[in-house]
Amino acid sequence: MLRQYMGIKGQYPDAILFFRMGDFYEMFFDDARTASKILGITLTSRGTLGEEKVPMCGVPHHASKSYVAKLVNNGLKVAICEQTEDPKQSKGIVKREVIRLVTPGSLIDEGEVDDKSNLYMAALSGPSTPQDRKKRATYGLAHVDLSTGEFRVTEAQTWEQLIEELSRIDPAEVIIPENTYLPKSETLSSYYRETLKRDAFDPGRAGDILREQLGVRSLAGFGCQDMTWGIISAAALVSYLQDNQKVIPGHIKELVSYRLGDYMFLDESTCEHLELLKTLRRQSVKGSLVQMLNKTVTPMGSRTLKRWILYPLIRIESIRRRLGAVGWFKDSPALREEIREELGKIYDIERLNGRIVLKRANARDLLALKFSLQRLPAVKEHLESSTSSLLSEIGLRLDTLRDVADWIEEAIHKDPPVSLKEGGIIKEGYDDKLDELISLSRSGKGWIAEFAASEQKRTGISSLKVGYNRVFGYYIEISKANMHLAPPDYIRKQTLVNGERYITESLKTMEEQVLDAEERRVALELEIFSKICDDIAIENGRIKETAHLISEIDALAGLAETAEANDYVCPEVDEGSDIEIVEGRHPVVEQTVRDEDFVPNDVHLDSTDHQVLIITGPNMAGKSTILRQTALAVLMAQMGSFVPASKAVIGIVDRIFTRVGASDDLARGQSTFMVEMNETANILRQATPKSLVILDEIGRGTSTYDGLSIAWSVAEALHDRGGKGVRTLFATHYHELTALAASKQRVKNFNIAVREWNDQIVFLRKLVPGGTSRSYGLEVARIAGLPEEVIVRAREVLESLESAEFEGRGRSGLAHPSSKKDEEELLQLNLFNPHDDKLRDWIRKLDVSSMTPLEALTELHHMKEYLDYETDN
Ligand code: ADP
Repeated sequence: MLRQYMGIKGQYPDAILFFRMGDFYEMFFDDARTASKILGITLTSRGTLGEEKVPMCGVPHHASKSYVAKLVNNGLKVAICEQTEDPKQSKGIVKREVIRLVTPGSLIDEGEVDDKSNLYMAALSGPSTPQDRKKRATYGLAHVDLSTGEFRVTEAQTWEQLIEELSRIDPAEVIIPENTYLPKSETLSSYYRETLKRDAFDPGRAGDILREQLGVRSLAGFGCQDMTWGIISAAALVSYLQDNQKVIPGHIKELVSYRLGDYMFLDESTCEHLELLKTLRRQSVKGSLVQMLNKTVTPMGSRTLKRWILYPLIRIESIRRRLGAVGWFKDSPALREEIREELGKIYDIERLNGRIVLKRANARDLLALKFSLQRLPAVKEHLESSTSSLLSEIGLRLDTLRDVADWIEEAIHKDPPVSLKEGGIIKEGYDDKLDELISLSRSGKGWIAEFAASEQKRTGISSLKVGYNRVFGYYIEISKANMHLAPPDYIRKQTLVNGERYITESLKTMEEQVLDAEERRVALELEIFSKICDDIAIENGRIKETAHLISEIDALAGLAETAEANDYVCPEVDEGSDIEIVEGRHPVVEQTVRDEDFVPNDVHLDSTDHQVLIITGPNMAGKSTILRQTALAVLMAQMGSFVPASKAVIGIVDRIFTRVGASDDLARGQSTFMVEMNETANILRQATPKSLVILDEIGRGTSTYDGLSIAWSVAEALHDRGGKGVRTLFATHYHELTALAASKQRVKNFNIAVREWNDQIVFLRKLVPGGTSRSYGLEVARIAGLPEEVIVRAREVLESLESAEFEGRGRSGLAHPSSKKDEEELLQLNLFNPHDDKLRDWIRKLDVSSMTPLEALTELHHMKEYLDYETDN
């Protein structure tokens, strides 16, 4: 047996092998040591190998799911090895085989999956050598949710874009090719990765693999025929599922290809800073936009809403259709209520469908599907009469799958057990052969009941019982006091404390009949059940489409519910460049401010006059809030939601960029100022005239003058970008920045009003035109509880600093347009003297890739010595 174990383990060296033995999964050797620690189960041993005892631990198979989940959540993968033949029939050691490999991306059965989120597995591919990369800088990215069958593919022009998209998908597992020259990425390394051999990414086979999986002759119907790398990634995913995970993903019959430009572009830090799916500090769903908006009543609806938040639309027509549907639902409260009530009874048919196709469904799953499908006709009827074009179309398209519901209704018992091995899942009257077996086993049981009565009569023992247990089968039980009355044909089987158990020839004969009929009944029921599942699985495409439409209805009705509950307004979206928000509010903050009511604010941005708004005001005044609420209003409008304002006009935005100053960004471990500058550089490269840029206190993570100068030049660059500029909201406590408005035509100053009162400040939360001349830092520090003597001393220091500043070049000097600096001054700014050719050549000639760290350090040391020497001389 151990030899068999070793053979199988050899094929899965990096997985924990769950080796099925009877009712247990056993683990041996290092697997046992690792797993017993993580799972908190006892480590025992079994037999010896050479001198050594073999360490072992095990878990009962019926409770294995939670153990598997725990191991996988600890970063391990688990190979499930089953007995693949009946131990009764086998000679020698039972055959065993790994039937499934469980990794974070395939952990769909283990009861740990959040039903409000998708569970994605992604694969990425790209040029395999640095030279290739220069030639065709394109990358492919595919992702799949095994539980629902959703399968998507896209391509990115640059590595950065690919990574941004990967973070938006946020997969549980990423498949990458072995030995590639994919650039390094922290985001990528933060995911669970599986490396596959290069031939899984073979361009020559990719098309065939995909066509075969999808059951089509050509990929043209999926709009991805020109996505070379996309197809390679998608095919790698399919082979991974089939070969490594050993699943036959019959429900993956459709591939949705999309281009990054089809949706509003949101990068990782924008999603984080706008707190779309979770809050920045606590990483909790509570307090995020999704939690605020989500009033859906099905898990499918929740998942769709999440996708809408992450993928806002940019085509006006599609946005208006969604808004129209939300509007219709909002204006028809009674119908909305009725529809939502029906939807609320619908189970997760998308995942039920997946389970049926993957052969993991039980009878209760089928009942849940049937029950859900029976809710559909009412929903369909309501929608067909809707005046919203989107909803009436959904109503028309909605397939109520009557046939599937009927199959289940006819066949499946209305109260089946969870296990498929007990019988009782198929209704009587459904199958003649089954009925025969049922009556056989029933009449046998009837005979046994009568047998007990007749034996009581025959022996005169009124307390005589007939019972059953798994070891002895049926038996007659007589108490001690009556033992002497037992007739001679009774065969003694077991002695108890208070009595004796017997069998008789006729009882045993009947028992065989009953048990045999039972066994055949269970087997036949299982066969019928599988056949029904197979029939339903053939219809999986229709079920998936229905699930998809239900999820959209649910998301739209949910948005209407939110809009009504919170008094949102329908935004007007157009191709113009104005963003006008009247009495806008922050959807989340307005719910949380308690002792003061939320103060609404107007924001107007355009590309001719109010393009870059510099918003000043003390800390805590509400700058971040106004920035975020503007970005959120745009995002919500483009996902098809109403917005928290009394009026909103949104000129379509192609990308939202959000950067928050380093000191506000505690969540990231690395040099925060560096991250911030990286991200800012990224905005300056990518923003278009249709983008919206939100900059909150950038340039704070360094000294005041450095920070101010960076903030200044970034604001200028955004104003000047491409000659047309970018719509920007720039919050800063550097009140000096307001001088920019004097030199840049489309820069406007605003501030959040505060009032000084008795040497204190009162926050008015109102955005008003004009700049501020002070930062009120000391006043805010006082509110925060800094001791009075510290505040007094700080005021002294501030005064002396400010007077020094005026003695120098003066603040307004910042507004001077940049002048050509003389060469000497520029040289100071450069790290290396451009005339120092010796040092440059030295560095150029170094072959860094072949150096050891120690050699590199030594080299660096020499350079420093050289520089010191040069400076001294
Ligand atoms: P800043 O960015 O200027 O430091 P924030 O935007 O973080 O200030 O706001 C600080 C707090 O003020 C918020 O957490 C919120 O409680 C409150 N606040 C902000 N804007 C408003 C508003 N318009 N109405 C009421 N309270 C607000």
